[in-house]
Formats: sequence, C-alpha cells, structure tokens
Amino acid sequence: MNLVEAAQTLDGLGLMPGQSGNLSERLARGFLITPSALPYDAMTEGDLVKLDLAGGRLGGRRKPSSEWRLHAAIYAARPDALAIVHTHSPRATALACARRAIPPFHYMIALAGGDDIRCSAYATFGTQELADAAVAALEGRRACLLANHGAVAIGRNLREALTLAREVENLASLYLDMLAARVDPVPLSEAEMAAVRARFEQHGQGGLRIGFAGQPLALGGPG
Ligand code: ZN
Repeated sequence: MNLVEAAQTLDGLGLMPGQSGNLSERLARGFLITPSALPYDAMTEGDLVKLDLAGGRLGGRRKPSSEWRLHAAIYAARPDALAIVHTHSPRATALACARRAIPPFHYMIALAGGDDIRCSAYATFGTQELADAAVAALEGRRACLLANHGAVAIGRNLREALTLAREVENLASLYLDMLAARVDPVPLSEAEMAAVRARFEQHGQGGLRIGFAGQPLALGGPG
C-alpha cells in the first residue's frame, strides 16, 4: 500500500471529509507527505512531496500539506513512527471537540499502546505548537486526538497507521454512543489492560502486530 492508496482508502471510508487530513511515510532521509488542497481521488504519486525534518524540500513540485510540521515533529521524536495518518474522521473529531480522552472502556484501546487515547492541548492548525502538543499527547501511545481538530495515528508502516486510525474512529464512535445513551462504561483496570497488551504483543491482533519491531510495548512510559 502506498500513500495515495492509503489516502484514497480513508477518503472512501468517509474519514477525510472535505479533503481534510494528511498522510506521510518516513524515508531514509526526511519523509514523503501528501500535498495541500488536492482532492484525494485526483491524487497520484507524482503529487507527493519529499521534505526533510526541517521542512526543506527534497522533491516534488506541489505545496506540502499545511500540517507538515506535525509529521516532522513526530518523526523527530518517535523513531518507532515510520508512517503517520492524520484525519478529521467525524466521530473522533467530535470527541476531540469536547477535548475528551477515550478511556479504557474496550480492550481495543490497547491497540493505541496504553490505557487511554489522550486528547492533546489545543493549538492552531499548521503550527509548531500543535506539533508539540501532538508529540506530548502521543507519549507512550501510537494514537491521540487533537483538541478541536481531529486525530493522529502512527505505525511501523502505512497499513498499521491506517488500521489504527480506523480503530480510533470506531472506538470514538462507541464511546459517543455510550455518552448519548447516558450509560456509564465500566473501565478495564490497569491489570486488565496490561494483560491485553501482553496478549497483543504475543499473538498480534487482526493482522496488526502490536509493539514495534525490536521494542517492548509501551506500558505507560515513552515508546
Ligand atoms: Zn487537520
């Protein structure tokens, strides 16, 4: 799966409303990112932009996504991130607008690497402040919500990042349904969540192996 296919897949699922969101893949030097303001169904590989971690252009003619700083900051801070998916997927974004973290009401929360999926502090889109807020919210995690904005998922490859972005949307949807129904989810305990992570690490889950190559699972610490 390449970046264009991944972007078109997410767009087809309705997770990139109004040309929002952006995707990238780490390269030996810098990263490859989707361009700004181009409909996903019209995008080809020639439209992608290569940048170094300071935003310097290494290739491509298009204007890079306005959120390139977000991607650059995550690659700089997280050696385990080889691909990044940023969406404005509707249900995750609804929670992000309430600045609510997703608690461990379902064991699949562990897919994101910890006992919750945090919501970042708010910052204006496209700024270094937002990039820093995302890196902080991702500490020890592979996904977070961005306050009043959207969501971010990282992976060892595009397919993992895409799978996690879809799962974050699914979990956000379930959580919103419970809030709407005014039922209180029973949170899983730390021990129960640790057991899920251990099992994910041992067996993999749905084709997505959890825990990045050569690294233990993040059990609350940076990872
Ligand atoms: Zn965005």
